[in-house]
Amino acid sequence: MRRVAGVLANLMVAAVLGAQAPVVITNASIVDVETGRVREGQSIRVEGTRIREIAPAGRMRVPPGARVVDGTGRFVIPGLWDMHVHATGFGIDRLFQPVLVANGVTGMREMWGQLVAADSMRAAIARGDAVGPRAVVAGHILDGAPAIWPGSLGVKGADAARRAVDSLAKAGAAFIKVYSRLSEDEFRAAGEQAKKNGLHFAGHVPSQVTVDEAVSQGMRTIEHLQQFTTACSSRESELRQQYRDAVASAKGWDSAAVVGRAQLNVQVESFDPARCAALAQRIAKSETWLVPTFTVLRSVAYLDDSTLKQDPRLTYIPKFFSASWDPRQDFRFRAVTAQGWADRKRIHARQLEIGRVMFRAGVKFLAGTDLSNPWIFPGFSLHDELANFVAIGMTPLQALQTATLNPARFYAAVDSMGTVGVNKVADLVVLDANPLADIRNVSRIHAVIANGRLIDAAQRAALLKDAEARAR
Ligand SMILES: [Zn+2]
Repeated sequence: MRRVAGVLANLMVAAVLGAQAPVVITNASIVDVETGRVREGQSIRVEGTRIREIAPAGRMRVPPGARVVDGTGRFVIPGLWDMHVHATGFGIDRLFQPVLVANGVTGMREMWGQLVAADSMRAAIARGDAVGPRAVVAGHILDGAPAIWPGSLGVKGADAARRAVDSLAKAGAAFIKVYSRLSEDEFRAAGEQAKKNGLHFAGHVPSQVTVDEAVSQGMRTIEHLQQFTTACSSRESELRQQYRDAVASAKGWDSAAVVGRAQLNVQVESFDPARCAALAQRIAKSETWLVPTFTVLRSVAYLDDSTLKQDPRLTYIPKFFSASWDPRQDFRFRAVTAQGWADRKRIHARQLEIGRVMFRAGVKFLAGTDLSNPWIFPGFSLHDELANFVAIGMTPLQALQTATLNPARFYAAVDSMGTVGVNKVADLVVLDANPLADIRNVSRIHAVIANGRLIDAAQRAALLKDAEARAR
């Protein structure tokens, strides 16, 4: 935790270097994302990278040279966090990060970053040469051997897992991203070693580890409800044995992939609500947060849906990039049959149901999208994710918290972010309508302040236009 707080502190200092004119938002309604109260007629003064003053509109003195945003009829919320992105390196940072900010995303948790690329982007943002959110960046993914993705660290054995964690920590990773192929031993060793380095570990519950075990090891976030349809199945132990046998067989992971696909149908049929509710109770008492990424869970269930290609937001995605979203171009989906796509849609429905059970039990949620994966659009999809949260039973306020107050709580940084308050970092979004009335109003963005830098309506339009041009 201390390490993460340190990373945030560095980020906050970095942008003081480029001095900016003060910004005043006048006569706005401030949304208190902690209580749901809306304070009308307030002005907010930003200097440097912090909010310096909040006062009734008539009593605020506008400093000379300040840039003024007319907040009349508008609503101010804290900047949003997307807690699961891949937007660093690969040459996509200059494309995706400005669009994230234009959509009010002023913080991101990078789940697989090239640390060197992250550093250079951070420096460019601080110099004023680039626009991007503040970023908390994992290093390479830590996976079993052979790793699923190129560029991951694929380890064999607990000792190798420990050494890999040490090397990631040394390289400056803010946390350890664990992945699907780690064995139980490797997973446990990685988790312990992460803690020894003052880091937390987060990511996929490996396919040979139970959700309960991951939670009791202290895994801080679980992404994509990974392993939950198994954990909520009345046939969990049988499914697990079958999968482990496949991994141990001559054809190893190839065989496991076939078994995994065949098990989807069983998971749907053997869903056990009572078992799921009991699991939810245990998670609610733990320090583990869920980042369900419902948006990507939906898209990977509906990849065979040709109407996805009509999405107007494709203008922000380079052609070669969206071409890779064709399931025939993706090793994860190439072998999925027509029946398989039908199974995936039923699994997706179960995942929403599981989300509902988890939320009702008081499990802690964070909003994340898995940007860079199929049909995920920078920032736009984070707005969709908040609507997904409302669909599983959250109020608009609770949904808004998953991208504002909850990330601040998760990082133990409520003193400096997560709400609109004096001395907090100046990450703000000015909306044309009240998001508590309809969560979809988070898309109605007038202006954004990212670490003290104002992006007004004209600059925001220019950022989006520029991104369209880059994507072409
Ligand atoms: Zn991801």
